[in-house]
Amino acid sequence: MLDKVVIANRGEIALRILRACHALGIRTVAVHSTVDRNLKHVAMADESVCIGPAPSSESYLNMASIIAAAEVTDAQAIHPGYGFLSENADFAERVEQSGFVFIGPRAETIRLMGDKVEAIRAMKEAGVPCVPGSGGPLGDDNAANIKIAREIGYPIIVKAAGGGGGRGMRVVHTEAHLNAAIQTTKSEAKAAFGNDMVYMEKFLENPRHVEIQVLADGQGNAIHLGERDCSMQRRHQKVVEEAPAPGISAEQRAEIGRVCVEACIRIGYRGAGTFEFLYENGRFYFIEMNTRIQVEHPVTELVTGIDLVREQLMIAAGRKLSIKQEDVVLEGHAIECRINAEDPETFMPCPGLIQHFHAPGGPGVRVDSHIYEGYRVPPNYDSMIGKLIVHGPDRETAIARMRVALSEMVVDGIKTNIPLQQRILSDAGFQQGGMNIHYLEKRLKEQKEKTISIV
Ligand code: ADP
Repeated sequence: MLDKVVIANRGEIALRILRACHALGIRTVAVHSTVDRNLKHVAMADESVCIGPAPSSESYLNMASIIAAAEVTDAQAIHPGYGFLSENADFAERVEQSGFVFIGPRAETIRLMGDKVEAIRAMKEAGVPCVPGSGGPLGDDNAANIKIAREIGYPIIVKAAGGGGGRGMRVVHTEAHLNAAIQTTKSEAKAAFGNDMVYMEKFLENPRHVEIQVLADGQGNAIHLGERDCSMQRRHQKVVEEAPAPGISAEQRAEIGRVCVEACIRIGYRGAGTFEFLYENGRFYFIEMNTRIQVEHPVTELVTGIDLVREQLMIAAGRKLSIKQEDVVLEGHAIECRINAEDPETFMPCPGLIQHFHAPGGPGVRVDSHIYEGYRVPPNYDSMIGKLIVHGPDRETAIARMRVALSEMVVDGIKTNIPLQQRILSDAGFQQGGMNIHYLEKRLKEQKEKTISIV
């Protein structure tokens, strides 16, 4: 087993990783910025190292400082969590070249998945269903691009190969706007990602976001752990996630899961990963692969009973996967609400001092959060302050448990999105299940218009 792990992250996921390490008897090193000295996991870690000032560019994105922290503490491995350096192939490479284990896939896999054109090409070859598209980068020949778009059929979406975080995309409805859209996306992509390569895909108008969780040991073994539905989104950011996805049959799950597992084996995937799909009219369309643990991993843990971070650590220690596909049995339904320090109406981040905190509890309730009474949420990072996750024998019970849990949860001193989550959980469409990725924004817009007309 690993002996000591550096946790190269902050907040709830750093705490989550620390717990998995300690349960396996692995010692931990917390690395933190100057404003993060008071994080819960820093107090709980065996050792801690301050790696730089508040801006993440100088701390959590500072590769040299993180690797130096592993050196001075004599650690063996580095867990990158999500965000920050978790999908940075250069970091993974430097970690391994410095003699440490990177808890994640090989650098070349991360690099492959970071280039969307290459990722789609590799997935297509592996038999994963993809969105009909250009199949490669677009050139400067306008006539050729028009031809590609006609073959795909409008509307189409122009996407940056190096894009991420929902940026670098443009929908085109008519031929007259195609060339301008390609040129603008190219120059935006160049400025934002330093890479002006763009490609074209069919624009799916009303898809759901359904993703498949996988685990692979890089030694020829891989399994899938079913799917998650993450269609409740605002500005491409997931707000509520659940497992299983409403309306997906056991046959469909087994089929798409099998395809993902085969792709993992084919590319020699190692670690935890997620195949993200758009799902429309009963069909899956691959959009990208996340080569790390995800924010929404707990819903999968609750329905499968498998600790994903523990599995990441076991794989990193060189163990073969001990779970067989037939051992993965889905039980009941799980829902996760992301809790953000933000205004529930304007969505403006709301950092500050937490004066009171009361965590909900009861059967099937899990709180993954680093906050405590007297903790000050710094303004420097993402506004997510925790996740509330519930499990029940069926979706209806899970919804009921989440509603009670949300009503119990008290975070005083700062504004949070708890009121928004309460509205979502009591919304008829959400309760029905299977809404598409535009549903939440549509409902928010309707409510806003209603409030304005009342005023
Ligand atoms: P990113 O890496 O920036 O998150 P993705 O490729 O995952 O980029 O796409 C982000 C989001 O953009 C998707 O969740 C979906 O809402 C939308 N999107 C991307 N491709 C398409 C498409 N072909 N049709 C419809 N929506 C799309």
